[in-house]
Amino acid sequence: MTEIILLKHGELALKGLNRRTFEDMLTKTLRRRLSVLGGWRFAAAQSAVAAEPLGEGCDLDAAVRICEKVFGLSGISRALAVPKDMEVIRAEAVPYLRGQLTAARTFKVNAKRADKRFPLTSPEICVDLGAVLLDAYPHLTVDVHDPDITVTVEIRDSAAYIHGNQLRGAGGLPPGSSGKAAALISGGIDSPVAAWMMARRGLALDAIHFASPPYTGERAEMKVHSLLHKVAEYSGRINLHVVPFTEIQEAIKDNCPEELFTIIMRRFMMVISEKIAHNNDCGALITGESVGQVASQTLGALVCTDCAVSMPVFRPLIGMDKDETVALARKIGTFEISVLPYEDCCTVFTPRHPRTKPILKFVEEAEARLDFDRLVGNALAGVRHIMIDSYS
Ligand code: ATP
Ligand code: MG
Repeated sequence: MTEIILLKHGELALKGLNRRTFEDMLTKTLRRRLSVLGGWRFAAAQSAVAAEPLGEGCDLDAAVRICEKVFGLSGISRALAVPKDMEVIRAEAVPYLRGQLTAARTFKVNAKRADKRFPLTSPEICVDLGAVLLDAYPHLTVDVHDPDITVTVEIRDSAAYIHGNQLRGAGGLPPGSSGKAAALISGGIDSPVAAWMMARRGLALDAIHFASPPYTGERAEMKVHSLLHKVAEYSGRINLHVVPFTEIQEAIKDNCPEELFTIIMRRFMMVISEKIAHNNDCGALITGESVGQVASQTLGALVCTDCAVSMPVFRPLIGMDKDETVALARKIGTFEISVLPYEDCCTVFTPRHPRTKPILKFVEEAEARLDFDRLVGNALAGVRHIMIDSYS
């Protein structure tokens, strides 16, 4: 009898002919992430993966915590794998679920019979095992609507699996299964959440950060590293490109109207990011913008920003309220880092009255006073590359 982790596919179930490829990517991710806890055997079948630790003493709680950060999974359960025999299921379920059932007051049994050759039907399994558990734990009562514990018996091709409540998986699609995109990461709350949301849709990530030394310090960049370490726990490793932005900001400040400073700066960021994305096989950009949040995110400003590039720009927070973004940031562990004090290049030369309805023609006229291509070239020549892995 072995204890395993039973991992249910999320949306992979919707995939048609490509399903095998997605399953393989998911298993590969699980193999890589769980390898820190020792060797594993993986059996993928019937919209689930059974992960079995090889060797004694594997920390299954730690393994579950790792699995909770793997995109592509809808449910996670520690489960006991037993032979497909009702006699054995009865005998094993009672001691295996002791901890959980002792702490519970109400329960129900749920049976799933994927292997139709099993002699009992699902309702028969429920009645049979329910009676056995009530006998062994007389303090329990059955509650089929809202039980403290749902004991599940899954009769699959490989074995029968017994488990208690299932944990929610992180959802989404396996890392990298949708291609790669470059996320513009500041030190704020929004951009790491935006990157995380797109990674959840199966995009591998590169990250781009604009730094303006000496106006912004090493601490600001370290903050970006810490934020990305957190995101990487879900997305896998991230190649960070740090772009020197001081020359561009000073040129805008010296040559362009103050009210257009922010919008021109944002257009430079997009143009430079698009080039970095191209050079690193990224098919899209990701930002943390949300309609109306600040002057640079009015509809007019977003249109002006968008016009600077032809690559698609994903803005997953576009329709979200700040409190919704904050809730997600707390969930993924970036919030506490984001709220640390820091200098961002955006706050260095903030105009007193930014234009909320910039007109593209005027923006382009102002930009014509700059040697745009030379400034972009200089910034690209000074880019530093840093590989960011998860902490775990
Ligand atoms: P955030 O919380 O992500 O900083 P914000 O609400 O402060 O967002 P802005 O500062 O206007 O909004 O930035 C909008 C988006 O532009 C950010 O979400 C991020 O994607 C990108 N961005 C801003 N500053 C930088 C920077 N220094 N480096 C890289 N990207 C940046
Ligand atoms: Mg910001």
